[in-house]
Amino acid sequence: MAGGAGQDLAHGALTSLPNRVLFHEQLEQGLRQTRSGDQLAVLCLDLDHFKDINDSLGHPVGDALLKEVGRRLEATVGEQDTVARLGGDEFAVVQTGRSEEIAARSLAGRLVEVISAPYQIDDHQIVIGVSIGISLSPQDGSNPDELLKNADLALYRAKADGRGTYRFFETGMDARAQARRLLEMDLRAALQRDEFQVYYQPIREVASGRVVAFEALLRWNHPQRGLIAPISFIPLAEETGLIVHLGEFVLRSACTDAATWPDDVDVAVNLSPVQFKSPNLIASVTEALAASGLGARRLELEITESVLLQNSEATLTTLHELRAMGVRISLDDFGTGYSSLSYLRSFPFDKIKIDRSFVSELATREDSMAIIRAVTGLGRSLGIVTTAEGVENDAQLELLRREGCTQAQGYLFSKPRPASDVAMMLERPRLRASA
Ligand code: C2E
Ligand code: MG
Ligand code: MG
Repeated sequence: MAGGAGQDLAHGALTSLPNRVLFHEQLEQGLRQTRSGDQLAVLCLDLDHFKDINDSLGHPVGDALLKEVGRRLEATVGEQDTVARLGGDEFAVVQTGRSEEIAARSLAGRLVEVISAPYQIDDHQIVIGVSIGISLSPQDGSNPDELLKNADLALYRAKADGRGTYRFFETGMDARAQARRLLEMDLRAALQRDEFQVYYQPIREVASGRVVAFEALLRWNHPQRGLIAPISFIPLAEETGLIVHLGEFVLRSACTDAATWPDDVDVAVNLSPVQFKSPNLIASVTEALAASGLGARRLELEITESVLLQNSEATLTTLHELRAMGVRISLDDFGTGYSSLSYLRSFPFDKIKIDRSFVSELATREDSMAIIRAVTGLGRSLGIVTTAEGVENDAQLELLRREGCTQAQGYLFSKPRPASDVAMMLERPRLRASA
């Protein structure tokens, strides 16, 4: 390890680990020194959602975290291995030896574990994950650039596969990266070509069976690929910032459609965390309401707790402004992330949406039942409406009714459908009013 050089140009001031330039040289040297039969592995590491920590807890905490990650890295790698900080929250390791694939796999597994262990920094307990991409020489490249590029492609794969994990480079990853670029171009064109459509799914009041709202859910009507669900394009739209335009489209469409519905039926629109970073959010909500003539009371905005994780001061201000306009705010997918009760204290949410995963296991898992009971109880005492997502059968509805859950949404009532089907969804016979 190139230690003891102090904070010169080749070493990052923050962690004293070699920087990208020195790493490049060390990798080159490593490649020259490997004897025939030797392998060399490059591991590229990237902390998961590091930016959220920086944004919410401040740069000094972020810096301290990076230092500690650097320390853990050095303590975990082998004596012959090189560690570097490539920049930001990106680190890299080079390993050399006889069977690097096996060694790299075991090191990557250990690194994921060691780096994910909680950190105590000042008064904060922080948990952060890491994603790792690995390339091997000679098979994945014989020069530093190629190896780094391929480790990077593998890193991209690790992130796409849910983060907190490692992936080896495979031929074809390049093709997939290419496919992603195509999808991005396609996505931009789709906005121009008007290929997006908003579908609606009814939300019913459990006690009366009445449809009280529809959730707006985005669909992409692709000329070749048919109807595409949001999971296949929203993450990319978020990465590229296209979600801001898409989100405005959904807001406008949803408000315009809802203005034609009965007065006592609301519309719920999902907002991405990326939209909160855009300074235009309040203006687009105001414009969508004004253009459609929809009363602000009839608009619900659904956010996930990841919105609250980022730059919380600014986010809370925006949320309070929206609420002051009369718009209601729901906490979506509750139970899937940190689900910290402090989120419920940090903002006066109007509604908690209990994630589908708890509802689907309601009849089979006691802990799901216990969680639903706790959340509906919490909602009751805090005066917050609770909505169960993903209700698919009568048995689930019955249990939810017994627990006093306020509203339910799911395939039991209807899948999401185009706006032209709203009248039909409103007409469908009411549910039994009681058990
Ligand atoms: P979400 O907001 O939690 O929406 C509920 C999802 O659960 C929808 O998936 C819906 O079709 C599905 N669902 C509803 N009832 C059932 C059920 O009984 N069983 C099952 N298996 N699934 C059910 P969808 O439409 O594919 O949307 C997925 C996610 O994409 C949404 O989750 C939301 O996070 C995001 N999304 C959708 N439209 C938008 C949008 O306009 N903007 C943003 N930012 N995100 C959106
Ligand atoms: Mg939602
Ligand atoms: Mg949800």
